[in-house]
Amino acid sequence: MSKPRHATNQLSTTCCYCGVGCGVLLHKEKNGSVTLEGNKDHPVNKGALCSKGLNLHHTVNDKTDRLLYPQMRYNKSMPMQRVSWDDALDRTAAVFKTFIDKYGPDSVAFYASGQCLTEEYYVINKLMKGFIGSNNIDTNSRLCMSSAVAAYKLALGEDSVPLCYEDIELADCFYVTGANPAWCHPILWRRVEAHKAANPNVKIIVVDPRVTDTVSVADLYLQLNPGTDITLNHAIGRVLIENGDIDLDFTTNHAEGFDAYSKLVFEKSVSEAAEICGVNEADIRLAAKYIGEAKGYIAMWTMGLNQSAIGVNKNLSLINLNLITGHIGKPGSGPLSLTGQPNAMGGREVGGLANLLPAHRDLGNPQHREEVQKFWGGTTISPKPGLSATEMFAALNDGRLKAIWILCTNPLTSMPNVRLVEDALKKAKFVVVQEITNKSESLAFADVILPAAAWAEKEGTMTNSERRISYLNKVLDAPGEALPDAEIICRFARKMGYKGFDFENNAAIYAEHARLTAKTNIDISGLSYELLKEHKTVQWPYKKKSPPKGTPRLFTDRKFYTPSQKAIIHPVPDTLTSEKPDTDFPFILTTGRIRDQWHTMSKTGKVNKLNQHYAQSFLEINPVDAGRLNINEGDVTVITSKRGSVQVKAKISPQIKQGVVFLPMHWGKILGNDLNRANNITSDKIDPISKEPDFKFCAVNVVKFKKP
Ligand code: SF4
Repeated sequence: MSKPRHATNQLSTTCCYCGVGCGVLLHKEKNGSVTLEGNKDHPVNKGALCSKGLNLHHTVNDKTDRLLYPQMRYNKSMPMQRVSWDDALDRTAAVFKTFIDKYGPDSVAFYASGQCLTEEYYVINKLMKGFIGSNNIDTNSRLCMSSAVAAYKLALGEDSVPLCYEDIELADCFYVTGANPAWCHPILWRRVEAHKAANPNVKIIVVDPRVTDTVSVADLYLQLNPGTDITLNHAIGRVLIENGDIDLDFTTNHAEGFDAYSKLVFEKSVSEAAEICGVNEADIRLAAKYIGEAKGYIAMWTMGLNQSAIGVNKNLSLINLNLITGHIGKPGSGPLSLTGQPNAMGGREVGGLANLLPAHRDLGNPQHREEVQKFWGGTTISPKPGLSATEMFAALNDGRLKAIWILCTNPLTSMPNVRLVEDALKKAKFVVVQEITNKSESLAFADVILPAAAWAEKEGTMTNSERRISYLNKVLDAPGEALPDAEIICRFARKMGYKGFDFENNAAIYAEHARLTAKTNIDISGLSYELLKEHKTVQWPYKKKSPPKGTPRLFTDRKFYTPSQKAIIHPVPDTLTSEKPDTDFPFILTTGRIRDQWHTMSKTGKVNKLNQHYAQSFLEINPVDAGRLNINEGDVTVITSKRGSVQVKAKISPQIKQGVVFLPMHWGKILGNDLNRANNITSDKIDPISKEPDFKFCAVNVVKFKKP
């Protein structure tokens, strides 16, 4: 794997899976294939890669499922036909123009991905918001990070992760909740494990309804009842106040809301909270003691908090613990949301969600809209937030939306209550699918198919969970006529007659994006491809006079991005609004990732080694529940909700709470069979602020499969 290579056939890039952002060196072999190794000089992973990263080259080398040329058809009963790029884009532009003229710009939408490169995000966002005149551009980051985005903004004034990975080695207490980084952010977690091994006094608290691999190094594990996170966080806050472990200077001079918060958290006794959460009161007190005694305290979380109908409030309740203890803006401390996708952060930098503008500007702010509109020189930017991910498919279903362009994502596996998405795509008047693989389920609904270049076949940038921007080299040519996503979008924009999409290359797109960030809080106006190639990676902000590696920590002056420059402690209610279990659907279903698969398996599913971890989907169920239902290990179970059903084999495990069951999220339609697909049954309830779906909580029934 890591034999020494000649520098000329070696190019650096960044892993395209999780938001940890590990550096990878790709080697072009004489036979045209690619091998890889972890980049030892990369500050994130120092050469290490997890199972998924180590097998990336297999996905690069296997071109058997690639889309090679544009295709289209004039109605859904016709077979797809190979066409030229000009024909495909001319027709698409003509259809988009017709809908925009007849029904207005909000009749069309783009649904993209946290795996798009920043340059791709930038041009799609510019096209939609600045020229078509609608904010209907959303991405699958909505399913992933939008609750954390909203909470950072509410608490700190902007969507800004305040710390960096180097703070891990400076912290002495970690509170890991709603996350299984041992499987889902493995290389980052190895840094925590190594730090703990070298410093036995470091305390790790893990909170999760399932005993995951992350729990194996915990000093304290709280197996809370699903959905009770806010109650638990408030109870810990109460004990911190009782113990006098509060940073009074911070809460008085650098934060607002402490009095209201203090009043709220004292409304419930710690024993009441323990009862609700299903944990011991003593463990809540111990968690508060560990946090209270810490000199450096890091909260880490991801989908367990984000993917919830109360996801923003869950996030705020956790960030509150950093704020009341003053553990922010100093080495070894801060709230660190673990980004699920490799470039969800970069997408947010360019405003690539339906409610954002570039450089964290506000869609609702007339001055911000004017700044962007003047810079782009296009149409007036609409103040109306666009449709978020789930809202887009609902709008196709009820006819408000006529056309959707899906790129770099597979909603027919990943969206909640996925039958609605199937219905929506059947009803859509026009569907464009921009994809790399011929396996995507969306292709069956497409009117136009556009073949895209894959990772390693295009250059660009991504930003990881710690605001670290890295440059990705193009290593290989794309097969057939496939094109990089940014080039496809720019060609389309020119077909629409829009000016400002004739970029010479991706460096020019990046330069335009960087200029648009000037004088904002994420200012990267000092950055260019040349500098990125020289410094390898940098952390934003990166102003003209920033240090060479950028800005590792924010808020070191304790001035936040709110109007008062104070952080806001939000006294959020702990009321759960998720679908409640009842006699017909008595179990709580939670969904999530497994160690060796990524999203909907379009890449990892091609790698034999990775498929050996779990070859098929499964239902994790507690032995007591399984016994009561006469279910044995390996029996086929039928899991139903009000929305549909799933049939998978039982995996009986004491590691999950009684009354709770777990399904992996990865499997979709396989060989025409969609009974593995967890999202047949998940709830499409969304958080009212972030619009993020409630993937971690819905009511289901479980029975043993019986032959009819
Ligand atoms: Fe890739 Fe994440 Fe694994 Fe690093 S930890 S190799 S970024 S999947």
